[in-house]
Amino acid sequence: MFGKEFQRKYALTDQGIRNTKKGTFWTVIVNLIVMGGMGILYLLMEKYMAVLTNGEGLPKAGTFILLVLVFVILSIVTHLQQYKATYGLVYSEVKSVRISLAEQLRKLPLGYFGKRDLADLTETIMGDVNRLEHVWSHCLSYLYGSYISTVIIAIVMLVYNWRMAVACLWGVPVAFALLFGSRKLAKKQSEITKAAGIQVADGIQETLENIREIRATNQEERFLQTLNDKIDYHEKTMRQGELSTGIFVNAASVIMRLGVATTILTGTNLILSGQIDFMQLFMFLLAITRIYAPFDQALALIAEMFMSQISASRLNEIYDAKTAEGADSFSPTNHDITFENVGFAYDNEQVLRGVSFTAREGEVTALVGPSGSGKSTCARLAARLWDISEGTIKVGGVDISKVDPEVLLSDYSMVFQDVVLFDDTVMENIRLGKHGATDEEVLAAAAAANCDEFALKLSQGYATPIGENGTRLSGGERQRISIARALLKNAPIVLLDEATASLDVENETKVQDALSRLLAGKTVLVIAHRMRTVEAADKIVVLDNGKVAEEGTPAELNARKDSIFRRMSELQNASAGWSV
Ligand code: ADP
Repeated sequence: MFGKEFQRKYALTDQGIRNTKKGTFWTVIVNLIVMGGMGILYLLMEKYMAVLTNGEGLPKAGTFILLVLVFVILSIVTHLQQYKATYGLVYSEVKSVRISLAEQLRKLPLGYFGKRDLADLTETIMGDVNRLEHVWSHCLSYLYGSYISTVIIAIVMLVYNWRMAVACLWGVPVAFALLFGSRKLAKKQSEITKAAGIQVADGIQETLENIREIRATNQEERFLQTLNDKIDYHEKTMRQGELSTGIFVNAASVIMRLGVATTILTGTNLILSGQIDFMQLFMFLLAITRIYAPFDQALALIAEMFMSQISASRLNEIYDAKTAEGADSFSPTNHDITFENVGFAYDNEQVLRGVSFTAREGEVTALVGPSGSGKSTCARLAARLWDISEGTIKVGGVDISKVDPEVLLSDYSMVFQDVVLFDDTVMENIRLGKHGATDEEVLAAAAAANCDEFALKLSQGYATPIGENGTRLSGGERQRISIARALLKNAPIVLLDEATASLDVENETKVQDALSRLLAGKTVLVIAHRMRTVEAADKIVVLDNGKVAEEGTPAELNARKDSIFRRMSELQNASAGWSV
């Protein structure tokens, strides 16, 4: 019952499945003990009936008080155990599921995040896990425990009087058959609701992200209207979902309760034909109320259980995604980066084809080419931010696809255009470059990247918080933070994406000094757009439409009459001449 398939169906961890088994065990015990309580009540009734009908003396109160006491104590103890195994343990289960999801996300290649909607991922980690939490704590143990205890009680009843047992219990399997029959509908409906919910989350996120453009273009009303429509639709799907499952759940509950009527009918007939006495009918009626009670609770939650399976499958989708893994050690002989016949596609469209070149240690290799030719892609692949589909990329002779990305990246510094900043102080944002760096180290790197110029002007200097994703900083300032991080990290490979593009002339000169310090002796792969960077490079790789079109020193390429490189230099020089 609680095998691998069950575990996957409800996305439980190994500990979670153990807790569910424990919870189910205690639910069975609790249900049987409650049934035992009914037995005491029955015995008491029987004694009093005997007093009324046969004129026997009053039963001894002591025995009953003792029985009741034992019942109460057992009841409390078992309920507590049941509580511990269900509600009590569910929080640690939620925590371990979220942690294992986060662990899995950490191992996934960046490409995965490009394909998946981030609002959707957040919804899985927060919303889906919450939904499952409720099922883990409220439903699974209760429902499966009730199945088992009902089977035990049903067997006892059947042995005692099969006609009465059938009259009591026929409704239970019919009710469940009805519910399981409606499961497909419930699943479909909840998939629709889920999709509508994600649309709303997406809409809100989009509106907030683009609020400036929306205001600037006077489109508030149109945006709000679309958002409103999405919210209305979500509400409608929720109502429809609740209605459709509600109908089946209530019908199932009514059918189950019809058992009371059939028990009375059958019981009366059997009494009339002298096969049972009134007390036996009374006993079955007592039992019936207890059999229905746990199912009633479970029925109310069964729709949620069906829906939770969708949440679980969304979790499984993340668990099943292919992770980028590899060896924990990385000790290349040097840090030359070699592309050998590399082919790569983000989706279906091939972006790089048969790309081969080497970026040597101690040299600056500039990637040049028209926009969209694949320069950034090459830089990302060199750091295994994506895995390639053809060819190999080696660093010092080691195939990087065989190295754990986390281990690999400790040898890389990246200064990309889209600097990611965190809602923390300037100091901490720079410290990200090197885990555990001292304040002195951070400040030295910051000064070298010319951060002093703006950071010291802030109200609390380097201790000033910069707001979410550094909204309070200009492009040039953000870039200097990024350079400071790279300086602090001092990794043997540096990937540079137009590092100086958003700097003004004065700052550029200063930052260039810092950069030349950063780059000395390293393997440098730079995505260059400006002639100054390009001419200072040791080697140029010209990319055109995903292929290496030309390769050589700047002088060599300039010497070729028809080279793309020469044409690009001339164009840039001409436009530079104009702007002066
Ligand atoms: P460059 O840096 O030379 O401008 P890129 O490497 O950024 O070129 O892009 C090469 C091609 O890959 C372009 O056609 C671009 O549209 C596509 N591309 C870049 N990034 C992605 C991505 N994350 N998902 C899908 N396609 C992408």
